[in-house]
Amino acid sequence: MSALDFRARLAALAEQDLLRTRAVLDAPCGPHAEVDGQRLLSFAGNDYLGLAAHPEVVEALREGAARWGVGAGASHLVSGHQRPHEELEQAFARFTGLPRALFFSTGYMANLAVLPALAGRGDTVIADRLNHASLVDAALLSRATVRRVPHVDLTAFERALASADGRKVVVVDGVFSMDGDLAPLPGLLALCERHDALLVVDDAHGFGVLGAQGRGVLSHFGLASPRIVYVGTLGKAAGVAGAFVAGDADAIEWLMQTGRSYRYTTAAPPALACALQASLRLIEVGDALRARLAGHRAQLAAAAATLRWPLLPSDTAIQPVVVGGNADALALSAALRRRGLWVPAIRPPTVPAGSARLRISLSAAHTGTDLDALCSALQEASDD
Ligand code: PMP
Repeated sequence: MSALDFRARLAALAEQDLLRTRAVLDAPCGPHAEVDGQRLLSFAGNDYLGLAAHPEVVEALREGAARWGVGAGASHLVSGHQRPHEELEQAFARFTGLPRALFFSTGYMANLAVLPALAGRGDTVIADRLNHASLVDAALLSRATVRRVPHVDLTAFERALASADGRKVVVVDGVFSMDGDLAPLPGLLALCERHDALLVVDDAHGFGVLGAQGRGVLSHFGLASPRIVYVGTLGKAAGVAGAFVAGDADAIEWLMQTGRSYRYTTAAPPALACALQASLRLIEVGDALRARLAGHRAQLAAAAATLRWPLLPSDTAIQPVVVGGNADALALSAALRRRGLWVPAIRPPTVPAGSARLRISLSAAHTGTDLDALCSALQEASDD
């Protein structure tokens, strides 16, 4: 074994159909992607409400850059916390109905700050087995004992809580990123109350999509508790970049004081915070966009009944068609690509072995005609 055996390691990945490629896009994020000179109808992105290229958001970014410049120049706690960042945090707290919010550059960074801030050596993090990779990494970074429990299995969560040491933190995706299903949050919160635990909810795929005015999965379930630490990411439905963590004021103050990926990184450009304020206003008045998304979901679900592969039940924009093998998932993705559609195949380790799938991402920016094209291409591929 050599430290320089990258070729052999890459060849091993290729042999298992696990090598990834990157497409270079020549058009803004949206339903119509341009890749290698080919126009593709894309179901690959997470721009669920179609805000990534929205003129009001683009204009807010432009004006923000003109007013505030491009870089923040320092971390938030030194000299990088500018007025747009501050206003944005207040807007998120107001919008979610939570006492306080803290703005991060990415969701990955937010998660890396949250779990090590809440749990350490001698404590216990109890995590759903299908949690996003950033939560898995954050749990490891915390140095707490990590118990990974079967997906959405409340009995297993309860068993793990009953035998946990130290401070206890339960952590889940609000909407699971590769399955589109929801965490059973009312049951989890009841368990956390019974066992004096915190509940961290990463709502990357629910914020903007679920709940009244898109307030997210807590609003969807009607939940509020000082035990909940809520993470909303802003590169998906919000169409920009970044994340916020919201919750009890003392918990957020503690996160600000001790979260290493908050303290030791340059604040996001203030112009991004300006763009996010515009995006948040559009989310708040975006019921028509969410209704459009629901219509697309219904259309796909009806068409999927006659497909060879199951469409997982999902009330969100994430619609997975589970194929099974890696090569089969790649072949289906390629068959759709030949028909002018871009639907990525998701393989292990992102999903468990044997459950490779197409992850169809719906967006309010799609039209009914786009959905017709998707449904008939899937049917043709299924009949092949
Ligand atoms: N959590 C979940 C559930 C996600 O799906 C993602 C993004 N794929 C993240 C966190 C990371 O967010 P960001 O892209 O803002 O780093």
